[in-house]
Amino acid sequence: MAYKDLKRGAEYKKYYYQTHKEAYRERLLKWRKENQELYHEQNFKYYWQNRYKILTKSKRRREEHRELISQKKRKHYQKHKEELLKKMRLYRESHREKRSEYGRKYRKTPTGKEVGKRNQAKRRAAKYGTSIEARLTAAEWQEIKLVYGYRCVYCGEKKKLSQDHIIPLRKGGYHVKENVVPACKRCNSSKNQKDLQEFGRGIQVVLF
Ligand SMILES: [Zn+2]
Repeated sequence: MAYKDLKRGAEYKKYYYQTHKEAYRERLLKWRKENQELYHEQNFKYYWQNRYKILTKSKRRREEHRELISQKKRKHYQKHKEELLKKMRLYRESHREKRSEYGRKYRKTPTGKEVGKRNQAKRRAAKYGTSIEARLTAAEWQEIKLVYGYRCVYCGEKKKLSQDHIIPLRKGGYHVKENVVPACKRCNSSKNQKDLQEFGRGIQVVLF
């Protein structure tokens, strides 16, 4: 019997809530306004105790509605395009100094240098229509230099070496270890986009 009563009680509560929704909402909002700190505290406590559940749920929802979400985002962007672009521009302008300072520092680190080289190769590959991802790694570049005795493959001098592509990227060559040789700046630029064969100085190419 108690079960029945409980059930009926719950049903009644639900019914009452349904018919007094607005009043409930108003009371809740009023309470929140008057007890902001407590409300935030409770909220945070609830989040912290249930964060795993909450995060998995939101992750699942994001995955389920990926298309819808990106659609919404696109729509939002289209609708507020000018506003957003203006905001971004203002942000960039007000942070220019900091950004460039950060960039300068980052490019000097080993990772930054490597990323820069890779991006440059990617840009060049894209420019010449070779869609292949830049693949030469830092370790492979070190290996190549070691194999060639840290000398320029064209003049044989020990200078600061840059990466030269045997088959140029613009001719569909890939940025892979098989296609990269070390060259000094002068030779690299005097080679000036000619293939190794055309350059013709009887170079010994080490094959991997
Ligand atoms: Zn050279």
